[in-house]
Amino acid sequence: MATISTNLHLTTARVAAACARAGRPVQSVTLLAVSKTFGADAVREAYAAGQRAFGENYVQEGLAKIAALADLRADLQWHLIGPLQSNKTRAVAEAFDWVHGVDRLKIAERLAEQRPPHLRPLQLCLQVNVSGEASKSGVAPADLPALAHAVAALPRGRVVLRGLMSIPEPAADAEARRRPHRALRECLERLNRDGLALDTLSMGMSDDLEAAIAEGATIVRVGRAIFGARGGVA
Ligand SMILES: *Cc1c(COP(=O)(O)O)cnc(C)c1O
Repeated sequence: MATISTNLHLTTARVAAACARAGRPVQSVTLLAVSKTFGADAVREAYAAGQRAFGENYVQEGLAKIAALADLRADLQWHLIGPLQSNKTRAVAEAFDWVHGVDRLKIAERLAEQRPPHLRPLQLCLQVNVSGEASKSGVAPADLPALAHAVAALPRGRVVLRGLMSIPEPAADAEARRRPHRALRECLERLNRDGLALDTLSMGMSDDLEAAIAEGATIVRVGRAIFGARGGVA
């Protein structure tokens, strides 16, 4: 049976190979281990194998795991990658290091207000709906510049806008997998030409991390390839 440690090594090798093909240094990509639905023991196992950055989708589940792993807190980076409602912003501002799914100014404002001053600033990414489906969360590319400039103007001691994230639809062939990642990179390049200094593209998961790295991903969010299949829910 494959262990988390073996899976981590295999995933790290995939990241390294994709970086080599893209002519990018391997340190330019951070592997975020998505531990949603898996217990604190699985995170401990990944930690023992050298993994330090973990992603959680659900606020309550993430908070419980952060509490259960309080002994490792100084060594770990916790990223919220799922949706965030305004009634949960305070708990998130107090516990996490990164929030990837920001798609409204109000959420970013609350996080900036509620981030305790003794903690490092919360690192933010704006979620962009690059595939344009009505059902998906994320800001439309047309509305992105206004949101990005407003979030970048919030007090930098509390929150820092780092970049963009997306969750594109799964695609069958290699070219179709690259298209939404290219679109997100182009959004980031436009914002940077507009004067924002953004350095983060959070894109690519277990099935498409190679395509994402080819298009410039700096954080790949990988769940199943590290922890195994999740029971039922995504
Ligand atoms: C679950 C999830 C992932 C990881 O997906 P895998 O297919 O398990 O690698 C990445 N990003 C988000 C936002 C997710 O919800």
